[in-house]
Amino acid sequence: MAQIFAYIVHKGGVADDSALELITAAKKIDAGANVTAIVAGSGADLDKVCNEMTESYKEVYKINSEAMAYPNAEVIRKALVNILPADCICLIPHNTFGMDMGPGLSIKMDSAYVSDVVAIEGIEGSTLKVIRQEFGGQVSTHVDCDISSGAIVTVRPGPFPPDESKGAGGQVVDKSGDIGDISAKRKYLETVLQEAGDVDITKSDVLVSVGRGIEDEENIELAKELAEAMGADVSCSRPIVDAKWLDKSRQVGTSGQTVKPKVYMAMGISGSFQHLGGIKGSPFIVAVNKNPKAPIFQVADVGIIADILEFMPELTEVLNESK
Ligand SMILES: Cc1cc2nc3c(=O)[nH]c(=O)nc-3n(C[C@H](O)[C@H](O)[C@H](O)COP(=O)(O)OP(=O)(O)OC[C@H]3O[C@@H](n4cnc5c(N)ncnc54)[C@H](O)[C@@H]3O)c2cc1C
Repeated sequence: MAQIFAYIVHKGGVADDSALELITAAKKIDAGANVTAIVAGSGADLDKVCNEMTESYKEVYKINSEAMAYPNAEVIRKALVNILPADCICLIPHNTFGMDMGPGLSIKMDSAYVSDVVAIEGIEGSTLKVIRQEFGGQVSTHVDCDISSGAIVTVRPGPFPPDESKGAGGQVVDKSGDIGDISAKRKYLETVLQEAGDVDITKSDVLVSVGRGIEDEENIELAKELAEAMGADVSCSRPIVDAKWLDKSRQVGTSGQTVKPKVYMAMGISGSFQHLGGIKGSPFIVAVNKNPKAPIFQVADVGIIADILEFMPELTEVLNESK
């Protein structure tokens, strides 16, 4: 069985949620696998993440380089080519960094590449059987991937529950001396911090989230009134931000915020994977949509087929009357 590696994305000394999700994904490939974590970075933050990972991984490859203080896919790809054994399977989170690094890494490693994997069915001989989604999540594609010369697999954050088992008692193996020439054309210039919004939806317990089904800017008020009645905050899908009806800080999704509410009210949101990728944990999802075939109903705990322009004011009224 090919050796399995998991690339750990981290920031400010804290590993991304995907770090533990990749263990679950690896165990779907090989239940008894001893997965090796790879942590690249520099300084105290790197050591902190490496130590944290030894609780979950038996082996942690540490790559310490000033050039990796900021995630530069070109630099890290060059290092990985020198460190990863040929024919291995390397799991990488399917985020902007993973999408940047994965394809080129597979070419340099001369191995297969399969992206945005949402489920893993297992291995048959030298065939890795995975599921991807296409057309905004409307079609699931079963992919047979020949891994006889290894594979780079980007794994969508979210569908694999984190492996919280801990207690791995792993060892850190310093691979910094093996990275070879990592000179790169791409240089880090500066970090541009995202502008702070009026509300931090990543901290909200309850979100009333509106999508294109809201139809008109003036109808946003209906969501605000419902949120107030529920003690919730208002969030939204990307088209609402693109239309400039709500601030970017309220966008949920892969190119917006990652939220962890207890209750998520999806109002007129179809349920694209880019949107669902921004919802972590297992919130109680209430979806209201007038299309019974909307993909959001596949993940919703409660699905209501209704027109949100009628449903929201009615619910607001009921809640206000009951106070
Ligand atoms: C690189 C990239 C990054 C992206 N990042 C994000 C992201 O971070 N977040 C994000 O949300 N999207 C993101 N997207 C966009 C994403 O692909 C979808 O286009 C988007 O999520 C769709 O938003 P929506 O569900 O509001 O709209 P739609 O898909 O148009 O769905 C609207 C839904 O409302 C329903 N509806 C219409 N009228 C009513 C009504 N009156 N009552 C009830 N239901 C009604 C419809 O049946 C439909 O299901 C990204 C896309 C790309 C390419």
